Amino acid sequence: MTSSAEPSTDGLRGLLTDVLRFSLHDGPGIRTTVFFKGCPLRCVWCHNPETQSPRPELDYHAERCVRCGECLRACGAEADGSGFVRERCADLDAAAAACTHDGLSLTGREWSVAEVMDEVRKDAAYYVASGGGITLSGGEPLLQADFATALLSAARAEKLHTCVESCGHVASERLESILPLVDLLLFDWKMTDSAQHRELTGVGNELIRASLAMAASQVPVVLRCPLIPGINDNGAHLAGIVDLASQILVQRIEIMPYHAAGSAKYARYGRGYSLPEIAVSDESRTRWMQALQAAPCPVTIAD
Ligand code: SF4
Repeated sequence: MTSSAEPSTDGLRGLLTDVLRFSLHDGPGIRTTVFFKGCPLRCVWCHNPETQSPRPELDYHAERCVRCGECLRACGAEADGSGFVRERCADLDAAAAACTHDGLSLTGREWSVAEVMDEVRKDAAYYVASGGGITLSGGEPLLQADFATALLSAARAEKLHTCVESCGHVASERLESILPLVDLLLFDWKMTDSAQHRELTGVGNELIRASLAMAASQVPVVLRCPLIPGINDNGAHLAGIVDLASQILVQRIEIMPYHAAGSAKYARYGRGYSLPEIAVSDESRTRWMQALQAAPCPVTIAD
């Protein structure tokens, strides 16, 4: 049911990969995290590759495929016994619907604000008890700024705590426009050197740095810093994080140790994954925690 206080959002749709209830890692308390589809970055360590493209995609589980070819025939393509062939698929919906072996599913569907809020409201009691709320994540929520704004407005109208996770590589006016609706901004800071940032993510970090400075002057910011051994695990970057947190008002630095949970997804979406197997050692965690103690704000490390 839609609250009468909710602004009209008729016709507005957001392309999402998931609306995840009982999330514990995307802001304080128990939260519902809304994963937007589409991201301007291509971080080599990304564990949510299904959120990168701004279009729906097929998730293909080759291990379940019995090579019947029904998916391809359903979309008017030739089937030759080799199972699903992404390049031949012309109709994602038809192909996914045709598979009766759980081999294919569509990632990314359009949601209305009311549909998302219906999910979010289910856990209202938990938000009150835990200090939680709604988090917009992705992908990059601000690539769908109108939908993000409408969703945050609806959440605010119901007095929910609002978090947005952003990579910051967005037009500053877009970011600034949502800040009055944001209680806490979770802002990624991945690599201090801009040239290296470009190598690792596809873009330099000048715009991101400017976005961060602007946002931190207006709302509380948690700086989220991924720790990727062999990639951004170096003294210059650690010193850069301390320097950054000394120049702008950061509520907290959160170290995000790499985990390989997303690496298996790449093949399911027809993409390669370039990183070797990486483990974050206790020594790395301790070194980062110790180095970042020089920052003028609390430092925590995620599980
Ligand atoms: S319909 Fe399903 S099981 Fe059959 S070829 Fe396509 S993905 Fe494989």
